[in-house]
Order: sequence, then C-alpha cells, then structure tokens
Amino acid sequence: MVRSIYLDHSSTTQVKPEVAEAMYPYFSGKYGNPSSLYAIGREAKKAMEEARQKVADLIGAKKEEIFFTGSGTESDNLAIKGIAYKNRGKGAHIITSSIEHHAVLNTCKYLEKQGFDVTYIPVSREGLVNPDDVEKAVTDKTILISIMHANNEIGTLQPIREIGKLAKKNKIPFHTDAVQTAGKIPVNVDELNADLLSLSAHKIYGPKGVGALYIRKGTILEPMLHGGGHERNIRPGTENVPGIVGFGKAAELAREHLPEEEKLAELRDSLIRGILEIEDSYLNGHPKERLPNNANFRFSFIEGESMVLTLDMNGIAASTGSACSSTSLEPSHVLMALGLKPEEAHGSLRLTLGTGNTQEDVDYVVSVLPGIVGKLRMMSPLAR
Ligand SMILES: *Cc1c(COP(=O)(O)O)cnc(C)c1O
Repeated sequence: MVRSIYLDHSSTTQVKPEVAEAMYPYFSGKYGNPSSLYAIGREAKKAMEEARQKVADLIGAKKEEIFFTGSGTESDNLAIKGIAYKNRGKGAHIITSSIEHHAVLNTCKYLEKQGFDVTYIPVSREGLVNPDDVEKAVTDKTILISIMHANNEIGTLQPIREIGKLAKKNKIPFHTDAVQTAGKIPVNVDELNADLLSLSAHKIYGPKGVGALYIRKGTILEPMLHGGGHERNIRPGTENVPGIVGFGKAAELAREHLPEEEKLAELRDSLIRGILEIEDSYLNGHPKERLPNNANFRFSFIEGESMVLTLDMNGIAASTGSACSSTSLEPSHVLMALGLKPEEAHGSLRLTLGTGNTQEDVDYVVSVLPGIVGKLRMMSPLAR
C-alpha cells in the first residue's frame, strides 16, 4: 500500500471541508460586490463582516481592527512599509530579528535601500531573541519593532510579551508576524502588546491568497495601494469575498480546535524522541519554547534535499526549511543565524504536524528514516 503522510503543515494546510462548504455559495449564487447597495451586495458585505468578527475573535481583537489582505506576505509588507513611510519624518530606524520570514526580512532590506536604517537582532543557538538586545537597540529614531511570534522553520517561540511590553514603554509601534502561531497556541493582541499582527488563512486550514492585518485602534499607517475606499482606505480593491468567508470559517474552527493543536506537542515529542535515536542527528531550535507541531532536525553528512526526495518516494511530504527557500541553493538564513555551518544547515529536515496526523504516521516516519539516512550517508563523500 502506498502511504500518503503530509508532514508539511507549516508550508500550507488542506482547506477543511467545512471551510470549502462555507465558501462555495459566494463564488456564484451570492456573487454580489460588498460595496453594492442592493440585496446580493449587502449579503456579501454581511458575510464579510461576520468573517471579520471571527478572525478578530481568534486573536482577541475588535472587528474594526481587522483589515483583509491578499496574503500573510502582504500583511507583513503593509505593516512594515505602512509604518515606515508614515513615520519617516520622526526617524527612520527599524528593529527586527535575523530569523524573520522573507516577507519581513526582504521588506526591511528594501527599506534599507530607501534610506531606512535597520537593526537585525541576532538569536541564540536555540533561535531565541533576547528582549534585552531589542531594548539596547532602541534609539530616539526607532519607529518600528517587528519580531515574529514563532519561526516557520525551527518553530522557536519568541518572548513576544516582553518585547511588546518594552515597545509600549518606549512608545514604539510593535508588529508581530503570527502566521505560524494563530490557531496553534493562544494569541491575544492585548497580552502580546501588539499594535500590528499578521495572519494568513492557508496556514490554518483556510484558502490560499487571503490574509489579514490587525491594526490597533490609533495606529496610523500609510496604505500601499491606492484605489477605492475598501477596507477603510487601508487596502483598496474589491474584496475576495469567498476567500474572506473561508478565512472566517477557518478562524472559527481554529478557535474550537485549539486544544487539539496544542496537544500535537505530544506527537511532536514522540517524533523527536524517535528520530534523535539516529546517530549524528540533532534537533534545530529550542527544545521547549517551540510550536506544538514543529520538529526540525539536522543529520551530519547528508543533504536535506535528498532526504526530502527519498521521503517523497516513501509517501511522506516533508521540507528542508521554508517552502519559499526550498528552491534556492543558499543555506537557510534561519539556520545560519543559529550559528550552524553551511553543511550543517544543508543537512536539515523540517517535519510539521497537523491535527490529521496520527501516532501511526509518526511511527512510520520513525521506522523509515533511519534506513534513508543510512543509505544517503553511504553515498555521501562527506561521511568518509
Ligand atoms: C507562510 C508565512 C508567511 C506568508 O504567508 P502567505 O500567505 O503565504 O504569503 C509569512 N510569515 C510566516 C511566518 C509564514 O509562515
């Protein structure tokens, strides 16, 4: 029997049947433009506002503080460029970390070319940002702090409460990319002291191509797009109604199923225990401060890509790091920031669980991986 085990939930997730079901009517039957005044327009508008409430509820926000975008990437861009351009006059210094998702990192690099000054806070060997380092980097020119809630490759959870607190104390807007944490661990914008927070539907069993940015009331940013008055002038463009409705349903289900997601930590630990039995294998990231669904390993003498391809032949979908960098030959910036050597970073494998995974899935991976690693090492010139 050919198995099919999906262990790449941090890249994307399957749209849940209930989510797809909720979306269907808004493609054809209820196709109105939410800006229209007649009945099917109002109907679309109502569905969209209900979805906004559900997304707000997932993160303890108010409905009016949720702005729909086209992706998590767009939310990150809007938050960072929006604050940067609005506050350029006050100063042009931004603080972020060296292990952000490319949607944040490359936005910051772009802003550097525009004359902004960016401090990239280094991380510990386990991938943790030290809040003291953030505080030390603050100057009277700092206009934004952006640190991700959890890293998408190694799963490390950052001390976001403390960082949010110090941002608030210094009256600096604070953005966090919570794409990997929403629906997996409790996320509350007030507890985190977040002024801006990015979300993406397809990481929580919703559709691709829809995201949201939480913007705390009173936080003012410059829009990136100009057009009609959609999303209260922050993000013009006729709204993706089916996508937004799907996002709302996914957010509602994510809240309901949060305990199951948190419980994945047990499966994760079983996976980690099993795989670390392999000789010369190591865990990347923090042993405890990590996403309940994330396991990331490195194996000496072999390459992550060859492991991913061999796992695929065994019916297991895994990844080397983030989906966005898996087609490039550069070692992951996240693994390099941990202080790994390029060859160590290249020997990494990320397995990310979802609520559809079982102990049997884990047992299967743990049973086939030692053979795969052994075989690849036999072929590796590095192993001798
Ligand atoms: C997936 C991801 C994004 C990008 O979201 P898209 O909706 O795919 O653009 C941003 N940040 C993190 C941490 C992610 O995991």
